[in-house]
Amino acid sequence: MVPTNHYSLYTSPMSIRDRYAPSPTGLQHIGGIRTALFNCLFARSRGGKFVLRLEDTDRSRFDQSYVQNLYDTFDWLGIRWDEGPDVGGTFAPYVQSQRTELYRHHADELLRQGRAYRCFCSAGRIEKIRQEREAAHSSESGYDRHCRNILPEEAASRAASGEAHTVRLKIPLGETTRFSDHLLGDIEWKNDDVNPDPVLLKSDGFPTYHLANVVDDHLMGITHVLRAQEWLSSTPLHVILYDSFGWTPPEFCHLPLVMGQDGKKLSKRHGATSIDEFRKQGYLPEALINYIALLGASYEEGRDIYSLEELGQRFSLDKLNKAPAIFDYKKLEWYNGQYIRMLGDGELAAACLPYAAEAGLFGEAGTEPSPEQQRLFAAAMPLIRERLTFLHEAAEKIGYLFGEPPLPAPEEFFPKKANAAETLELLRLGRQLVPHLAAAAEDAAAEAYIKEQAEKSAVKLGDLMMPLRVAITGSRVSPPLFGSLRLLGAESSLRRVDRALELLGDNTGSPLDKYYIMQYKQI
Ligand code: GLU
Ligand code: ZN
Repeated sequence: MVPTNHYSLYTSPMSIRDRYAPSPTGLQHIGGIRTALFNCLFARSRGGKFVLRLEDTDRSRFDQSYVQNLYDTFDWLGIRWDEGPDVGGTFAPYVQSQRTELYRHHADELLRQGRAYRCFCSAGRIEKIRQEREAAHSSESGYDRHCRNILPEEAASRAASGEAHTVRLKIPLGETTRFSDHLLGDIEWKNDDVNPDPVLLKSDGFPTYHLANVVDDHLMGITHVLRAQEWLSSTPLHVILYDSFGWTPPEFCHLPLVMGQDGKKLSKRHGATSIDEFRKQGYLPEALINYIALLGASYEEGRDIYSLEELGQRFSLDKLNKAPAIFDYKKLEWYNGQYIRMLGDGELAAACLPYAAEAGLFGEAGTEPSPEQQRLFAAAMPLIRERLTFLHEAAEKIGYLFGEPPLPAPEEFFPKKANAAETLELLRLGRQLVPHLAAAAEDAAAEAYIKEQAEKSAVKLGDLMMPLRVAITGSRVSPPLFGSLRLLGAESSLRRVDRALELLGDNTGSPLDKYYIMQYKQI
């Protein structure tokens, strides 16, 4: 038995059911995730059910890798559906290619009722009309309703004798179709302007998007269709289809478009759009979710950070904006930084570690850390938490802890206004302080100590620290020096300072002094 109306059986008037219905013809991207997320949040906010349905009837563009990408993306984001191909549910199967029998049955039903008809036009004929119109600069488009008036008996017998055909919807002409959109209000569409008698069932027996989408939304008891605004032009057609079946349409809410900063539809030209790319760039899923949830919706004034759970409690259709949402990459980066700061040391280390291993922090690219490296990595997180925008930056920022960094040119050691000889003096003084600094239990103690020593020697604190910082980290700009000394320990720190002293020409007559003498002479 083919089920025809589950709606009344399974859906009480109070419980809402919505769905994400992607076609696996590409990687999951910002727009799709926004649709999925809003559906998920809406269902949660109303104690309803969120359904995943794969609309895989376009077999020429289907690719299994896109299905895998869908599951991987949602796993990573931590967004779950209540019913779907992987978790099952009352209305299984949730994959349209496994439901073709059902669509054929429903197309037959429409044929029987005279709400659809068979079209025997070849692809060649349809193309010819298109070309003729183009040549004549005609504004007409779509099918010319050539087969609309073939007598049903004749059509049935031609079909029975094996003649290839499609099934088209017989749009009632001269009428107006009305529906209400939660965001856009009441919408009217003259039937004569709707896509003329679109195909419901293709000649290979596969349904088109329109038929499968409407049949499934009905049979799966979907109460609310939240989808991107680009589908709005299909909605009058869908409403006519519901009507043709004698079904009540679900409620519609077409979500605001997502644009780039230039006001054009968000695309690769603007930057990353597939979730995979954001993941590779070192975004945290929580940051992406938080930012995407604000694309076209406003929650509370003066608050930016929301967990998935909080969003689910707060979401409602009234919070959606009509205006297009502008995707701001800088704002997303800001979110990522905020979420990074919220992680504990262990969590941050776990999140950054795969990127660091890939970048070769622990040996060759891809090498897993030894237990000792792993400890050091986790212990270094407090040094960089405030400085990270992306997870992948950790490796570069703390690389100097995992091996002696190459030393930069001698001038890089010089504090402002100091010359080579003065810098050497400052670094010698710094060296004496290293054991004490490395042993200090916390930054405050180290800082107090070095300040005191700087005063005693009548040098500026900054001047004392600069050559020491470069000696230890290899760079003038680095994570905090005291924490670095503590993690490296006195012995390893002293080795680094000695290397730098040597470079700066600690031995009289070293090549470096000659270098400077040459330089001064040139000036
Ligand atoms: N399969 C369509 C898509 O790829 C679904 C549109 C809808 O939600 O009705 O987005
Ligand atoms: Zn035809």
